[in-house]
This record gives sequence, structure tokens and C-alpha cells, in this order.
Amino acid sequence: MRIAFIGLGNMGAPMASNLLKAGHEVTVFDLVEPAMQQLVSEGAKASGSAVEATRQAEVIVSMLPAGIHVRELYLGQEGQAGLLEAFDTQPLVIDASTIAPEDARAVAEAAHRRGVPFLDAPVSGGVGGAKAGTLTFIVGGPEDAFQRARPVLEAMGKNIFHAGEAGAGQVAKICNNMLLGILMSGTAEALALGVRNGLDPATLSEIMKQSSGGNWALNVYNPWPGVMENVPASKEYQGGFLVDLMMKDLGLAWNLALDSKATVPMGSQARNLFALHAAQGNGRLDFSSIQWLYRSGDAR
Ligand code: NAD
Repeated sequence: MRIAFIGLGNMGAPMASNLLKAGHEVTVFDLVEPAMQQLVSEGAKASGSAVEATRQAEVIVSMLPAGIHVRELYLGQEGQAGLLEAFDTQPLVIDASTIAPEDARAVAEAAHRRGVPFLDAPVSGGVGGAKAGTLTFIVGGPEDAFQRARPVLEAMGKNIFHAGEAGAGQVAKICNNMLLGILMSGTAEALALGVRNGLDPATLSEIMKQSSGGNWALNVYNPWPGVMENVPASKEYQGGFLVDLMMKDLGLAWNLALDSKATVPMGSQARNLFALHAAQGNGRLDFSSIQWLYRSGDAR
């Protein structure tokens, strides 16, 4: 298929790479030009704009930081038309960014008026899952569009869920990431307590993995440097999932809770911990660097 991929960051680049490996014809665009070079060396075509990238596309996939970027891309901004006005085909649009459900619904409604099917399809599985093609896609939107998207999503992911109508993918993703923020902070807290009391972080991790404290952060994303190879904690917290993006997701959970009169005390606590950590200048580090918040006094 002819696919346009927009947003080639930590997640988008390996996802686009897997579409190429599956034999699709991929045209890419990112605001940062060097982000496109690796994909071009793998066989993608680079574009000078999002409009150019989507010419003649059958499917469009976007992977952008936040709701504002997705709204501006598809709906436009002051005095400038969005992508929905520029299509020369009726492509299937899949936005895989994590954004507010109301932003996803606003774009879905505008796309619907234009006769273009739109899916919100946020992902879980991190950069490791994006590279391995094992992401979980959590999709919101009409059933027929979901079925059309399936083969494209299967080239990038292993578990493909249809959560419900427009915005439902984002609601499920936000619940998941609130839990992830809580689990990562809790894991970092437990490790710091054990190490402060003389335990080796690798030994403690192994014990907790095999015990009732086991969770995703311990199993595949250990926040203590050197315990696990090839995770951001062992690469000075570079790459991975930025603290700023976790802050965004915990903020989305908070807004969702306010709107629906839900109570999220653990999610609020996690948001405050990440906010404190970001305020200390760590926003561009991987979110597992929350470990440092519990290590004040330790030499870095
Ligand atoms: P990132 O910041 O690494 O990449 C975003 C990319 O989008 C950048 O290359 C940026 O230049 C580009 N961009 C921004 N605005 C653009 C525009 N208008 N046109 C073209 N390109 C534009 O972010 P990421 O880690 O890849 O995350 C992307 C989304 O996926 C976020 O919503 C995030 O919450 C979500 N997510 C991330 C992870 C993770 O582990 N990193 C996991 C699951 C979901």
C-alpha cells in the first residue's frame, strides 16, 4: 500500500521502518529533516511537507507528541488549512499519538464531514516494542475502518484491540499510562528503599519479579542503571519515553477524571512526582529516570 508516515521520533521512526520491511511504499515527513534520513536509507521517500507526503496516499499514519500537533496537522491553524482540506484521495487516517479523547473526536468529526475515515490508535509497548514490531494498538473508530486498518497495524504491532467508537482508544490508553506512571514510581521507590538498606538492585529486582511485586517496569524496563541491558536506565536515560510525555499523559488522566467526576489519588500522586522531577530539569530524559527522585544524596 502507499502509506504516508508523519512524525519520526523515538516511536515513529521504527514504526515506519517496519512498514517498509512489510513491503509497503512509505513516504515520510518530519519537521526535523535529519529524522527522515535513516528511513530514506531504508527505502522511504522523504517529503518537504505533510501535504506533499500524503499525495496519492492510501493510508496516513501520524505519530506526533501531543493533541495540539495532531489538531494543527489535520485541522490547520490560524489562516492555514489543515491536511483534511488538502487530500487528493480519500485515505484511511490513523493517528497513533496519545492525545485527549476530545481532540481525537474533534479530528474524527472533521474527517467524517470530509468523507475520510479516521481512527485514534494509540500504542503501548515502548520503543522496544516499536522496533520489534510487537506494539499493542488500542483503536477507537468505526468497525469498517478498523478492519481496513488491521493489515497496516499488524505490520507494526502484535495485539490489535478495538476499544470502541472515536476517542475510545485514547481513553483506554490514558488509563493504561496512568497505571504505568504509578507502577514506575512505585518500582523506583521500592528499589531505592532496598538499596539504601544494603541490597543489590539486581538481586532485589529478581526477587520482586518472581514475587507479588512483579510488574512491567521490573520485567522489561528496570529503572536502576545497570540492572538490565538495553533499557534507557543503562544508557543514561536517553531515548525511550520522555518525562515530559509521561507528564502529558498523567495530565490527560487528570482531565479525564475531572470531566467524569472520577477519583484518581494514585494517578495524581504520580503526576506530582513526575512534575517535581521535570521541574528539576529532567523533562527530556526517559521516564524511568524518576529513579533519581528517590536517590537524592547519591552521586550521579
Ligand atoms: P518524539 O518527541 O520522540 O517524536 C515526535 C516527532 O514528531 C518528532 O520527531 C517531531 O519532530 C515530530 N513532529 C512534531 N510535530 C510535527 C509536525 N507537525 N509534522 C511532522 N512532524 C512533527 O515522541 P515519541 O516518543 O515518538 O512519541 C510520539 C507519541 O507516541 C506521543 O504522543 C507519545 O505519548 C506516544 N507514545 C510514546 C511511547 C514511547 O515509549 N516513546 C510509547 C507509547 C506512546
